[in-house]
Amino acid sequence: MACFAKIHGDVCTKHNFIRVVPMKAALLSILLAGLVVLSCNKPEPVVEAKDFAMGTVITQKIYGANSKAAAAEAISKIRELEKILSFYLADSDISLLNNSAGRGKVRLHPETFFLLTKSSEYAHLSGGEFNIMVGPLVKRWKVTAESPDVPSPAEIKSLLTLIDYRDLHLYKDDCSARLARKGQMVDLGGIAKGYAGDEVIKIYGKHGIKSAIVDIGGNICVLGLNTDGTPWNVGIQDPRRKRGIYIGSVSLSDKAVSTSGAYERFFPAGGKKYHHIIDPRTGYPSESDLLSVTIIADSSLDTDALSTTIFILGLDKGIKLIKKIKGTEAVLIKNDGAIYATEGLQKNFNCSAEVIYR
Ligand code: AMP
Ligand code: MG
Repeated sequence: MACFAKIHGDVCTKHNFIRVVPMKAALLSILLAGLVVLSCNKPEPVVEAKDFAMGTVITQKIYGANSKAAAAEAISKIRELEKILSFYLADSDISLLNNSAGRGKVRLHPETFFLLTKSSEYAHLSGGEFNIMVGPLVKRWKVTAESPDVPSPAEIKSLLTLIDYRDLHLYKDDCSARLARKGQMVDLGGIAKGYAGDEVIKIYGKHGIKSAIVDIGGNICVLGLNTDGTPWNVGIQDPRRKRGIYIGSVSLSDKAVSTSGAYERFFPAGGKKYHHIIDPRTGYPSESDLLSVTIIADSSLDTDALSTTIFILGLDKGIKLIKKIKGTEAVLIKNDGAIYATEGLQKNFNCSAEVIYR
């Protein structure tokens, strides 16, 4: 579970940390022709908020005059999104769509429609590896439930017959969608929190905020620079070690960072770990050659969808795909612990271990 450990200093989440430098009183001294003018600006107001929504911890740190209003509006927006996008809330758009599978079209909120459209684009881009139609498998695996169990091969085989991203039909004209067959379900768990991050950044902008950081369950967005004028440092969890131990950090401003990893949500059974990212071809938790993937780009929707996708694709196919998408960088940690990063990160990835740039 994500947590922001301290108000000042290292801020850690389930797999990221942000080093936050405490506010210093701005002291401006101007020396002019023997006249000393000493002006002491008040420190910028800062709001730090920690909430729970979308099944995860959300932390915000916002500097500026309207920071309180911005934080409140951001969290209420996230709660609104949860109401329509949740796989688990009975009245959400997603539940309405899932419950109508095989029975016809369902009118949707424009934001639900937008996310279904983007998910469909990512399904095509990844050859079906990013596949929100994994809903029936997510429901059966229930990795975060109190007593999860491993489904039988026969169960997996039968559920796999429902997983086909081409069975999600979207109708732009009346903002509706349809799932072709009974039992099919979509789950936006791999993209919705990222979208929420983009919306929060828009809200900060509307309030005139110039410096902020928000973390929605490991989908981090940084706005502007830190208050000391330096970029934000976002740490990357070492997937083989305790939470809060990092393999390094990336210095960023105005960017989104998302990490997907097998260590995030899983349950152990029979000496194996069964995690939450499902390979839609096998029906089992993905077994690529990667332990974790961190994606950096302008939009948090994109980083969220891509981190899930690349985790399933594995190192070689993953790097190949990232290279095709302009403005997108990645840090990939292989099963043997080797650290790979895309060339565009050479200047802002701080890591004391050897990094293989590709
Ligand atoms: P993330 O933590 O962003 O990598 O997303 C993982 C979540 O996305 C899971 O908990 C599921 O809700 C959902 N999910 C699992 N497998 C897939 C998949 N192959 N494509 C899209 N979403 C998935
Ligand atoms: Mg994701």
